[in-house]
Amino acid sequence: QDKRESLYVLSQWAGKFFKEQLWNTDIGNSIGLSYFKERGYREDIIKKFDLGYSPDVWTALVEEAKKSGFQEGYLTEIGLAIERDDKSLYDRFRGRVIFPIHNLTGRIIGFGGRTLKTEKSVPKYVNSPESDIYRKSDVLYGLSFAKKAILDHDTCYLVEGYADVISMHQAGVENVVSSSGTSLTTGQIKLISRFTKNVIILYDGDAAGIKASLRGTDMLLEEGLNVKVLLFPDGNDPDSYVQTFGSAAFKEYVATNQQDFIFYKTNILLKDANNDPIKRAEVIHEVVESIALIPDEIKVSVFIRQCSSLLDIEERVLLSELNKIRVNKA
Ligand code: ATP
Ligand code: MN
Ligand code: MN
Ligand code: MN
Repeated sequence: QDKRESLYVLSQWAGKFFKEQLWNTDIGNSIGLSYFKERGYREDIIKKFDLGYSPDVWTALVEEAKKSGFQEGYLTEIGLAIERDDKSLYDRFRGRVIFPIHNLTGRIIGFGGRTLKTEKSVPKYVNSPESDIYRKSDVLYGLSFAKKAILDHDTCYLVEGYADVISMHQAGVENVVSSSGTSLTTGQIKLISRFTKNVIILYDGDAAGIKASLRGTDMLLEEGLNVKVLLFPDGNDPDSYVQTFGSAAFKEYVATNQQDFIFYKTNILLKDANNDPIKRAEVIHEVVESIALIPDEIKVSVFIRQCSSLLDIEERVLLSELNKIRVNKA
């Protein structure tokens, strides 16, 4: 417990270090702060999310941390520093803008760092590793800032990235969290369902986003959550949409384009199947498999009825498929 507390203190300190680099150094100002401003982030939002900058040198944080009396073991344990073969330490985050990750109570537990370079060989994001205070499968980025709005609206938007959470806040949509690019876990879903049963997935309008939107959702349905989905047009994500078209257009787009997950999945699969009868049969099977996960019988029968007309197939065929799937599972 003492150790965990030390890791929290060190993370908090590192968050402050990155912020000071961003706001109070010439390099941080001209590179980091201007990057955020060019992305369209307002100063109040940059401050609210504790955004920072890590200088592009090998041991800026390590040196400062040692001066401040932090043990080397904690620096590596929390992943702020990496150990070389000769046991010397160097900074994990170098020349990146920093997105601190907060836990439910708002304490910093890890960091995401975005490169400012455009070369494909450099990973776009570097993230803190798991530690005693950062269990990735139980953390949703932005939840500490979102929880009140999630309760107020009884809805939670789920997005892919840090930047999406931040731009949506700036647009006045605060009930939003991100799984930070990894597929959803049961822990994260249980976390959301403590606050609301209504989830709206806003994924990137690229191949990865479509794939992810079909993947993580089964668990949401099993938890009894109501799931809606919306994709952004041609390569946009929530962040780029807000920054390109403005808050009002963003809200309008979200309001008019969200679709219930079951219908969304049906339509996407149907498009792929064209009129191939074997593929259509496969679609029917896959859609009914998703419906079979829903614990609420009333919802199940509503979906069966509506999918019967979407798929142009009799309800009793879907129902017998549903029963087959249930028998196989039992
Ligand atoms: P930006 O708008 O800054 O370019 P993004 O959030 O739109 O970033 P995506 O490529 O859509 O970036 O990825 C979504 C999320 O996945 C990121 O916010 C980040 O959390 C995570 N991610 C992306 N690339 C990597 C990577 N190379 N390593 C680890 N995590 C990554
Ligand atoms: Mn993407
Ligand atoms: Mn994205
Ligand atoms: Mn983006």
